[in-house]
Amino acid sequence: MKFRRLRLSGFKSFVDAAELRIEDGLTGVVGPNGCGKSNLLESLRWLMGESSAKSLRGAGMEDVIFAGTDRRPSRDVAEVQLQLDNKDRKAPAQFNESDEIDVSRHIERGLGSAYRINGRDVRQKDVQLLFADAATGAHSPALVSQGRIGAIINAKPQDRRKLLEEAAGIAGLHVRRKDAEQR
Ligand code: ATP
Ligand code: MG
Repeated sequence: MKFRRLRLSGFKSFVDAAELRIEDGLTGVVGPNGCGKSNLLESLRWLMGESSAKSLRGAGMEDVIFAGTDRRPSRDVAEVQLQLDNKDRKAPAQFNESDEIDVSRHIERGLGSAYRINGRDVRQKDVQLLFADAATGAHSPALVSQGRIGAIINAKPQDRRKLLEEAAGIAGLHVRRKDAEQR
């Protein structure tokens, strides 16, 4: 499963709609300090179901919405959309109907956030499982933010094991087992 296109609107500093095409191979994002490179990475983590505002450098989840500047008023809505290439057909069965999968997350002030996969409303857990099975995800070692290397080195063995499980693509199995045990 490959990332193909990322669209942002109202997310952090990306107040205007922005679209990034992600080609095969290595993609580099360069720019001066404060231009939004880390915000881009955070938009991916947020879309994948990150529920901790702190790990997105905010106090509350609504802090991901464009907060306004001297010249531009704040926004009430933020949305991130990611198009995945599913030509290898490795997505979970219920989303495995096409060569492309569209995942989006939307947040509105006072109304919370909602997820969609291929235009259908889904649970946060569905999105988290989709990415966990693809061995990526909000907490996976595929996303390394500033300061993370030190945090991994100093992590407790149990936490480091979780990272290895995410990397191996088996994190979703634990979630499904817990689900099955609760039924
Ligand atoms: P560096 O090279 O220093 O790591 P960077 O390119 O990673 O910089 P970011 O940390 O992604 O930069 O972007 C920081 C900018 O995003 C700041 O100017 C900050 O004000 C802005 N920003 C963050 N959250 C919001 C928000 N909710 N609304 C508006 N702007 C925001
Ligand atoms: Mg940065």
